[in-house]
Amino acid sequence: MEKIVAATKNKGKIKEIDAITSQLGFSVIPRDEAGVPEEFDTDETGTTFEENSELKAVDIMKLTGMTAVADDSGLEVDALGGEPGVYSARYAGEEHNDQANRTLVLSKLEGVPFEKRTARFVCVVTLARPDGSKVVARGTVEGHIIEEERGTNGFGYDPIFMPEGYDRTFAEMTAEEKNGISHRANALKKLEEMLG
Ligand code: IMP
Repeated sequence: MEKIVAATKNKGKIKEIDAITSQLGFSVIPRDEAGVPEEFDTDETGTTFEENSELKAVDIMKLTGMTAVADDSGLEVDALGGEPGVYSARYAGEEHNDQANRTLVLSKLEGVPFEKRTARFVCVVTLARPDGSKVVARGTVEGHIIEEERGTNGFGYDPIFMPEGYDRTFAEMTAEEKNGISHRANALKKLEEMLG
């Protein structure tokens, strides 16, 4: 089984990536197991999910000499002109506070009716190989931002995002259910097709 290094430190994401890539014949190892220092962080200076995803994958590939997989993801809210977008993790400030980020989105959407609260999660996965080759795949999941938080599973904006065709938020779903339809799952499925 080919070993690839995950560029993210986010345990929620590693779990989701591993649940999916293990079915594709990859075994994902956390970056610390591949010798990446805890304090190492890529500056996410890109203005697109593609740019940031590639920056992270290439950094970790160069540091470890192994194939690396990175994702860059976020939430796009149509009524906010696509915000928070690439700034999803730091929308309410540099301290990356999920609760503050959710509260900010909800407050900016106050008074906006359900039909105009359309949004999507976007995920771009980049696989960077030591030979310099890259595979890039984008996945999305469409939905709505509800008016108050519901559910305690997941992370980030999950409690306020209700995917299309469901009456529960991502935070009210089991990990398996979310992994079946998520932007990350869709990006990884596309990556599988591209690698296959
Ligand atoms: P990244 O780590 O730069 O990709 O930033 C991703 C940010 O987008 C996270 O900190 C979350 O705020 C948000 N996000 C991405 N994927 C998800 C998800 O599956 N659920 C909830 N929030 C997410």
